[in-house]
Amino acid sequence: MHTFWPDDDVLYAAFCRKDMAFDGVAYIAVRTTGIFCRPGCPARMPLRQHVVFFRTPHEAMAAGYRACKRCRPIEPPQSASALIRRLVAEVDAAPTRRWTAADLEALGIDPVTARRHFQRRFGMSFLAYSRAHRVASAFTLIERGASTLSAQLDVGFESSSAFREAFSKRFGRPPMRAKSSVLLRSAWMDTPLGTMIALTDSSCLHLLEFSNRARIDLQLARYRNRLNAAFAPGETAVSRTLRHELDLFFSGRRLTFSVEPAETGTPFQEQVWARLRRIPPGTTLSYAKLAEEIGSPSAVRAVASANAMNRCAIVTPCHRIVGTDGSLTGYAGGLPRKQWLIDHEARHSGRAGLAHRRAS
Ligand SMILES: [Zn+2]
Repeated sequence: MHTFWPDDDVLYAAFCRKDMAFDGVAYIAVRTTGIFCRPGCPARMPLRQHVVFFRTPHEAMAAGYRACKRCRPIEPPQSASALIRRLVAEVDAAPTRRWTAADLEALGIDPVTARRHFQRRFGMSFLAYSRAHRVASAFTLIERGASTLSAQLDVGFESSSAFREAFSKRFGRPPMRAKSSVLLRSAWMDTPLGTMIALTDSSCLHLLEFSNRARIDLQLARYRNRLNAAFAPGETAVSRTLRHELDLFFSGRRLTFSVEPAETGTPFQEQVWARLRRIPPGTTLSYAKLAEEIGSPSAVRAVASANAMNRCAIVTPCHRIVGTDGSLTGYAGGLPRKQWLIDHEARHSGRAGLAHRRAS
């Protein structure tokens, strides 16, 4: 059941500007080549009169189209290649190891290919990725009471100025101030609606948002300021649970989450977010109704703004909030994704009859 489907001109314009809010929502097929793509494909944009749009890869294939080899519309967006999985496992097993291009060659991996894969997925080269892990290990050592010097040596930095610089650049503070800050781990989650970035610590989820790979550096700098925390790539027990629960969510097997969002908002925001988490999947609630329920009927705008400040997309389901007239209103991940989530929940919660339907 799809209630939201923009007309072809709107879709064509969205594909032209590589609007990633349509990633996982719409596919473009080219009659002249018989190939279909996802939004953001690096291939040249086909002419308007040659294209047709589909809602799922399955529908495109049923109509006789083949998947593009460049944007791979059948795989989850930006899914990790075997090469990435192998190197990520190597780094996880030995996070303080110092890597060189020669080490990659010794494993039979072309350093240029590794760089390209990592750049595309993480916004940094493999060598930068492994260096980030070394510096993050130093953070953990210092947090646990090691001296700056022993941490530096343990993670393979011979020069203390190079260590200080790498550390400050990554965490926005020098090593001696590491003890007073929090280290969050960033991990990528592949979903049918695009890749999401999750920031977690060993007990809580701090952030879950759709990631924009072209602007990932900016996005990370913004998080660092907003959360006043340092972070480095890596998994935690929470990120592993979240990955599993997102799989269950997107396959429709379970629409609720057990991971705990960190309490980082104002008391009012926390109150709004807690209420959002009690909206049953497959249903929606208006800003006005939510304001009324938490006892501040006049606070509709404050409720809307707390809703917009939600950092844990899907887990704290701000997509279940709609305008009083039932309109979709805004969503940080883009309206196509919001409607997709509402439809998906309606389909899998057995509440299809109660689902929100877009007017018109
Ligand atoms: Zn393509």
